[in-house]
Formats: sequence, C-alpha cells, structure tokens
Amino acid sequence: MDLPKAQRLVLSPDSIREFEGFGMAARADGYLVQPTTTEGINEAIALAKQTGRHLVPRGSGLSYGDASILAEGIVLDLGKMNRFISWDRETGIAECEPGVTIEQLWRTGLPNGWWPPVVSGTMFPTLGGALGMNIHGKNNFQVGTLGDNVDEIDLLTVDGQIQTLQQGDPLFRAVVSSAGMLGIITRIKVRLKKVPSGNVKVYAESIPNWQAQLDAFEKRAELADYMVSWVDCFGKGAASGRGLFHAAWYDKDADSESLLEMNQDLPPKVFGILPKSQVWRFLKPLNNRIGMRFLNLAKHTSSKFIGNRRMHKQGLVAFSFLLDYVPDWRKAYLPTGFIQYQTFIPKTEAARVFAQQIRLSQEAKLEPFLGVLKKHRPDSFLLSHAVDGYSLALDYKVTERNWSNLEALCHRMNDLVRASGGRFYLAKDSTLRPDDLDYLGPNLQVLRDLKNQLDPEHILDSDQARRLNLFPR
Ligand SMILES: Cc1cc2nc3c(=O)[nH]c(=O)nc-3n(C[C@H](O)[C@H](O)[C@H](O)COP(=O)(O)OP(=O)(O)OC[C@H]3O[C@@H](n4cnc5c(N)ncnc54)[C@H](O)[C@@H]3O)c2cc1C
Repeated sequence: MDLPKAQRLVLSPDSIREFEGFGMAARADGYLVQPTTTEGINEAIALAKQTGRHLVPRGSGLSYGDASILAEGIVLDLGKMNRFISWDRETGIAECEPGVTIEQLWRTGLPNGWWPPVVSGTMFPTLGGALGMNIHGKNNFQVGTLGDNVDEIDLLTVDGQIQTLQQGDPLFRAVVSSAGMLGIITRIKVRLKKVPSGNVKVYAESIPNWQAQLDAFEKRAELADYMVSWVDCFGKGAASGRGLFHAAWYDKDADSESLLEMNQDLPPKVFGILPKSQVWRFLKPLNNRIGMRFLNLAKHTSSKFIGNRRMHKQGLVAFSFLLDYVPDWRKAYLPTGFIQYQTFIPKTEAARVFAQQIRLSQEAKLEPFLGVLKKHRPDSFLLSHAVDGYSLALDYKVTERNWSNLEALCHRMNDLVRASGGRFYLAKDSTLRPDDLDYLGPNLQVLRDLKNQLDPEHILDSDQARRLNLFPR
C-alpha cells in the first residue's frame, strides 16, 4: 500500500548541503528539498511540521546575504519548478512557475519583441525569488519594481491553501517584498514590455563628483528608459563620487535582427582569446585595496577620454546584464567572500549621505571595490526599499580580520541612513540589526500580524529573519 505522500519525504543526511548567499560570506547547512509541483511543496511543509524544523524558500540563491539560507532547516529549492504555464506572443503576457528565470523570460519574449519589464543586474534570478525581494532595475525611476509589473500571483500558505492575488490586493503588496516569509509564490502572471528592437542607444558621461552624479540623473529622468552610474569609491575630497554615468533609450532605428537570441548572447571569450570562465583568476590577484584603487582609477581616467559625452549602441542583454559578462567573478573574493551594502536615500539627502558613507569607509581603510548608483521612485509594497531618491550599492571584501570593523562601519552607515529617512533592501543586507527595522514604521507590525495569521507556527523562516528578530516569538 502506498504511504500518504507527506510521509514519503524524509530528512536524510544525504540531503544535507552547505548553502550560501551570493556573497559567500553567509553560509549554513540545511536539508535540500527540490519540489517539481505544488504537491511537492506541500509535502515539504508537512515534513517541516512533522520534524519540528523550519523551511526557507529559495530561488537561485542570488540574494547577497542570508535571506535564502537557514541553518539546520529545510531549504525549499524551487529551481526545478521552471515551466511556462502559458505564453501569449500577441499580448506579451507570460504565466510562469516560480523557478522560471529572467533569462528564460527574455529568451522566450525577445524574438517577438518582448522584454522583461524589470530586470536585475544578472539574468539568473527566479521570478519567485525576484518577487520575494521585489527587485528593481535600472528603470526603477520610470516603471517601478517587478511587483508593479506583475498582474497576478498564486500564494501557497503553510496550511496548504492557494490564494490568487492581484495587483490591488493588500496581501499582494505584502507578499511581494516579504522575503518568502508569508507563503510561497507558486504562479506568476507577468506583462512583458514591447520593445522596438533588441538594442539600446547608450549615452556615457564621465562624472567628477557627487553633485554632478545627481545632476546627470535629474537632467535625463524625464526621457531616459534606463539610467545607472558607476562610482569610484577611492575618490576623495572634491573627487568623492566621481564615476561614469549611463543613460539608455530603446533603439527605434535598429533592425529586427537585433531581436534574435544569437545576436544578443554575450561572447564566450574576452578579446576573442580568453575564456570568460577564467577571467576571475586574473582578477583575484588585483582584488585588494591597492589593485582595486588602481583599477578604479584606470576606469575613471579612461572614461574621461574614451566615449565621453557620446552615444553608442548596445544589445539589451549586454547593457542589462553586464555582471554576467564575467561568469564566476565573485570567486575573486574567495575564500571569505564579500557583502553588498545598498541603501536608498531621499533625493535631497542623497549626495550628503553617500559622501559620508564613502568617507567613513575610507577612514576605516575599507573602501568598497565597486559602487553603483541608481535613481528610484517610491512604491507601496509592505517592505518597500525604494524612495523618491537614489540608492548606492557598495561591494565590500570580507576577511576574517576585517569582519568586526566592517560590521561596525555598516552599523555607523545604517545610523546615517535612518537619520535621513532612508531605507534598506533585504536582498542586499548582511549587517542590519533588529533596531534598524524601524525604517519600516507601522508596516513592520502589519507584517508581523500577517505572519501570525498566515503562518502562526513560524514554519517559514530564514537566517536573515532570525538575525533581524523579524518575527519575535
Ligand atoms: C550580480 C547580481 C546583481 C543583482 N542586481 C540586482 C538589481 O539590479 N536589482 C535588484 O533589485 N536586485 C539585484 N540583485 C539581487 C537579486 O535580484 C535578488 O536577490 C533576487 O531576489 C534573487 O532571486 P533568486 O531567485 O536568487 O532568489 P533567492 O535569493 O533565492 O531568494 C530571495 C528571497 O525570496 C524568497 N523566495 C524565493 N523563492 C520564493 C517563492 N517562490 N515564493 C516566495 N518567496 C520566495 C527567499 O526565501 C528569499 O527571501 C542582484 C544580485 C546579483 C547576484
């Protein structure tokens, strides 16, 4: 006789794996479960209840910190639920399982002129994970977050019920952004954007300081489709904030050939000889303060002379997913990894707060090796990270020796963010303290009330939720 399905799944030592955040600084052992259907998710929930363990949903595991890991818990890897339920090439509406990735979405849509409405700097997040965090793109100032462009989701709660939620539903606005802690998103209906071609026209401008950075964004905010700027975090004093600004527009003049996948795929070799998969090995010896100061300076100096204040054309894939150009680049940070620290500051405070963050980092001799600036618009998601202003994402190398200083630095920077009315982003968080959650205001209590209603036994959990005491028991 067949056992009831819930009893077939067991917690075996063979399923124990080490899971890590993308930054590799946060790691934890957990039990891997990879469902292929919603019944499979229900089995995993039943298993958690039977064994007294907790469960964390996981997409591609690309959140930088500890949002999709859970020490000694069940890791519900949804990557195998990656089928399209439907795809309409006339309307650009896709219905997807939660493990469908942004890459699958663009490969499916682009040949017919459809592009994902919001993409992150990498094409590999799953839609479930991307909605868990409510990701933004370089077009956040124009179109909002991914959640703003999704019509409908199915939410599976730990009691086994599935609810269909739409844009206007308050629960939709809570689940999207709540880092998987209210339930599991099992179906997503997303509207892709019609694009005139597979290319963008990109304007580049070398930038001398913080005020010039913000001016460059404000000047083009009405017209640009995408904007992003690189910041050299070694620039000091009057040169603090120097960098390279890019604005991009969908290219109406490019031919339809540009829509073909083969014309979008990033080349497998750099300079036609070096396999991209090996590039991180060349970066590793430079991945220290001296090497990175040099690389940042070289990039800034060349930005003044090459292509400055000019337009060039680029494929949407190359423009959107620059970081995917060098696979495994994060391995240059091995063995101890790195963290990304991204904070969102209201427009009027942004230049001052970012300058202070960089000054504090330089004083601590902990300069970020990479800085990226974006413009945002506010939204009404429960754990929204966006503001009417700017975000600065900073990559910090982690070592055994620097960790306590780095944590102290982040805490000082957090205080600046809170004092300025700024916000944090759970996808990029490794160092927030429970008290820092006051940036959420009354929404924190709304989240906690929903948690008690939908998941009273706190089956859904993560190392991040524990660190932040997100749901006090
Ligand atoms: C190189 C790089 C560039 C990036 N650029 C950007 C960027 O430009 N903009 C941006 O906003 N983010 C960016 N990110 C962050 C990334 O987009 C988010 O962390 C995203 O959530 C990762 O998706 P994932 O599938 O890996 O989710 P995971 O990291 O695995 O999970 C994210 C959260 O969602 C929860 N979750 C996962 N699946 C589900 C589900 N089906 N239902 C409910 N909850 C679920 C998890 O528990 C977790 O809390 C970047 C990350 C990297 C590595």
